[in-house]
Amino acid sequence: MKRIALAAMLVAVTSVAVLAQPITVVSTRVLVDSCAYFPQLSADGTMLLYSNTEASELYLKDLASGRVTTVADQGLPGFDARFAHDGRIYYVTQALGKDNLVYRAAHCYDPATGQSQQVLKPQHGAVYVLPAAQGVAIEGEQQSYTTAKQVGLYAYTRNSELFVTDGEGMSLSSPAGECAGYLWPSVSPDGTMVAFEAAGKGLYVCDLAGNVLHRLPSASMPVWLDDNHIIAMTNTNFGAQRDKGTFLYVTTLDGEVQRLTDPQEHAVQPMVMGNKLVYVADGGQIKEATLQWTRAAANTDNRTLSATTHPKSRPAGAQPAPRVFLNPGHGGHDSNDRPTPYYCYATNDTLPYYESDSNFKKGMALKQILENRGYEVGITRTENKTTDDLDLFEISSLANHSGADMFLAIHSNATGIERKLNFPLALYRGWSGEPCVEGSDSIASCVMRHLIGNYTTVWSHPLRIYGDWTFYPDWGPKTGLGVLRYNKLPGMLSEGSFHDYLPERRRLNNDDFCWLEGWNLSLAIDEYFGQPGTGENGMVAGRVIDLNGETPYAGYKFGLDYCPARNNTTVTLLDNRKQVVAQAITDSLDNGFFLFRDLVPGVYHLQAGTMTRTVTVRPHASTYCNFSY
Ligand SMILES: [Zn+2]
Repeated sequence: MKRIALAAMLVAVTSVAVLAQPITVVSTRVLVDSCAYFPQLSADGTMLLYSNTEASELYLKDLASGRVTTVADQGLPGFDARFAHDGRIYYVTQALGKDNLVYRAAHCYDPATGQSQQVLKPQHGAVYVLPAAQGVAIEGEQQSYTTAKQVGLYAYTRNSELFVTDGEGMSLSSPAGECAGYLWPSVSPDGTMVAFEAAGKGLYVCDLAGNVLHRLPSASMPVWLDDNHIIAMTNTNFGAQRDKGTFLYVTTLDGEVQRLTDPQEHAVQPMVMGNKLVYVADGGQIKEATLQWTRAAANTDNRTLSATTHPKSRPAGAQPAPRVFLNPGHGGHDSNDRPTPYYCYATNDTLPYYESDSNFKKGMALKQILENRGYEVGITRTENKTTDDLDLFEISSLANHSGADMFLAIHSNATGIERKLNFPLALYRGWSGEPCVEGSDSIASCVMRHLIGNYTTVWSHPLRIYGDWTFYPDWGPKTGLGVLRYNKLPGMLSEGSFHDYLPERRRLNNDDFCWLEGWNLSLAIDEYFGQPGTGENGMVAGRVIDLNGETPYAGYKFGLDYCPARNNTTVTLLDNRKQVVAQAITDSLDNGFFLFRDLVPGVYHLQAGTMTRTVTVRPHASTYCNFSY
């Protein structure tokens, strides 16, 4: 539903709709030529802060002299830095600590001395640098910092909660209900309203107590121009891999919109200072537009906040649990979802396969397994609808915002050509062997090793691991995957197998097979975080194959996939005393897959047809047992 509203709005915006009182772009100028992102203009408009595409460098440019200074180049200081009113710069760095957990520290850079000083020591979880009415607030999950005793109103979000505070009073609300997360909260210039994006739900404008005043179509990086105008970048999935066609627009609180940049500019990442709009155009060129419009009259509503206790997620010093942010790829059965009709020979019927379904099943299985082990898990969707298919920029922003220790995008692959293949592929941001974010290559090797160990599938080739800049050379320098671009978490995108290899697609249509991939991903994640899995149970999975039959499929196949699977076949699990523990029946979707999970480690016997096989189920590990007869 929301997508339709959004699409309708975009049509309106593109067809040069104007506000009743239009906003005019009086002039534009280029502030930085290329490769510059996340611009911030100082309060006096003389200094510009920006990052390179990897967030590894934070630069300060004196716009009068053109002189560029490196503010910081350690610990991914880019993307989130902010100016205080006095021109000082506040930024967050991150580093891997014990067990690969991410610790974030905050710093202040003084342009007068060229020196940085740590203002918040490293802590686990999210740390946000937030502009406040009279200063800057740095909110950490354990410890926070403000540039003055009273910095005035500011807002921040955590998961699906909105916090508004003036340092004494605090309002906590959930105006848009539960979703993948709230992003980009900001207080209106008159201090009476807060705007934020609720992922997949839209742009919300609330009063300070969290009562919804206006609900607008989804938008990325909304910023207030005045008390009735918000500037944002389009939030779409149309070709979002490469930011193509994105543009900036202004919306009134009543939803009247006007496009501000040409879609050919591919404009992203707006920020506003006074009558200046600063943004990033194609190739990382930073532009400044001077705007002229009739400024809205300020609201004079009551704006007091009642005092409540400042909530912290856990007491300082408590042992942190690893936090993982998951993105089961795509969403909804629409054109962005690689709909692949699948003909089911057994039932003489058609059974469509959608990548969003198998990604979702793997992701939800993984979430549940990790949560049972004490992890904190964020996820971009808990259903499979078109509205769950979030904008790729929004996904990477949610991941960064979550304060997680790892980002994992879960997908399956397709050659898209007649030649079919089947192997797991890991992509992380950066060049092969040189990930932008430390730890990403370790995650990739853990994940790939556990996936290739799955003997219930048939692999055509060994696992492959690449940096996305190396893997997609034609996309332009340092472009890479949209979902990893601007992502600062150690992490990767996993293409678990190839869904356009028909025998594999038949397996991916089995829920237990998807669960198995989630389980194998959980073992990889435990390994990366050094979690021993003490006291964990094990599992056994396998396939039942008809060695004498003819496979009902003439296309590409490898190894045992030359033989058809046995449908509707009972597999019996017996313990070491030959007592029946459980039974499974293979489905009728030509995959022959069976799974027994949550097994106490030990020796088991498996029976299928007239065959019996003995396996040792190991704790916290995968055990496989295929039957061919
Ligand atoms: Zn995909």
